[in-house]
Amino acid sequence: MTASKKSPYWSSLASSLTPYIPGEQPRKDKFIKLNTNENPYPPSPKAVEAINKTAGEVLRLYPDPSSTALREAVAERWGIKSEEVFIGNGSDEILAFAFAAFFEAQNNPAEPLLFPNITYSFYPVYAALWDLAFKTPVLNTDFAIDPNDYKQSSGGVIFPNPNAPTGRALDQKTIVDIAKAQEKVKKVLIVDEAYIAFSQGPGMGSMIPFIKENPNLLIVRTLSKEASLAGLRSAYACGNAELIEGLYRLKDSFNSYPLDRLAQAASIAAILDTAYYDEINHRICQTRERVQAALNTLGFKVIPSQANFIFASPPGITDSGAAGFLAALREKGILVRHFKQSEIINYLRISIGTDVDMDTFLAACKEIIF
Ligand code: PMP
Repeated sequence: MTASKKSPYWSSLASSLTPYIPGEQPRKDKFIKLNTNENPYPPSPKAVEAINKTAGEVLRLYPDPSSTALREAVAERWGIKSEEVFIGNGSDEILAFAFAAFFEAQNNPAEPLLFPNITYSFYPVYAALWDLAFKTPVLNTDFAIDPNDYKQSSGGVIFPNPNAPTGRALDQKTIVDIAKAQEKVKKVLIVDEAYIAFSQGPGMGSMIPFIKENPNLLIVRTLSKEASLAGLRSAYACGNAELIEGLYRLKDSFNSYPLDRLAQAASIAAILDTAYYDEINHRICQTRERVQAALNTLGFKVIPSQANFIFASPPGITDSGAAGFLAALREKGILVRHFKQSEIINYLRISIGTDVDMDTFLAACKEIIF
């Protein structure tokens, strides 16, 4: 999709949009894909079995519009109530609803919405879609979010934790402090936890256990990366029942059946198979640590990551930033991601693949550098 075309048939809204461009999904299998943060290991066998069991005569019938059984599975896993769970067709859909449900439009902003200047590049697209006023506080020089930027009066706050594409994370106490500051002005803090399953260390981890004491805190989780189900399109959000009702108001004004029967069945099995996912995601973290060390040795500047990707700047950068290195990797059959924003133009985002894939990637880097 390109944004430059115009058509007499398009509404002024359609004409005004600059759509998000996702990472490349090649039609053929000739690439090692380290460009869209997919999990390199297969989904839980129980999730696949659930799809196979569901794929039959029952597909004649519409699915449960509210994904009740899946909400109950998420509630059971986190020790919360099912009224505190929303289900969506991937977290992109939940985020689109959340921007409309909790943040005020341009013509009525007391204060703008806040998100970091370097973050998930879909956020400004949603803000433009819903015509929201927003401000983007600048990250610190080492790409960390400055929590103080988000404790001021605002129209609401959203950031990923860990942030993307930097991989840097805030601890839970810091996020609670931001939530409490925003609660004083009755504004919502959304924490997009697409990569939290790969965060380790004291005070790091999901904010879902904190929704009880923080009525303005909404946590968005996706099964795409941590549950290796990017192809299924399934995600959930947890928060106080009023926030969840706000999301359902949007969903039920847009699409009654966002998750089909196969996705609901597979998601339930995946949510409950924590043993399987703890194992593969732990392996990804170990691979990440090893690859970060190897990249440092090769002369990359590596931002220590808490996610299933590494954000790193290759040595010998030219005027076009890291784009040349990306092209050289592509020649060798390896896809990574590069962003043109000036502050990060010298960096590449490298998803963590299997150990074999990462060894091939490191060997290719060596050939390019030496
Ligand atoms: N949030 C962040 C920070 C992401 O990087 C992504 C993946 N592009 C998403 C949300 C969306 O993931 P999905 O729609 O697959 O759930």
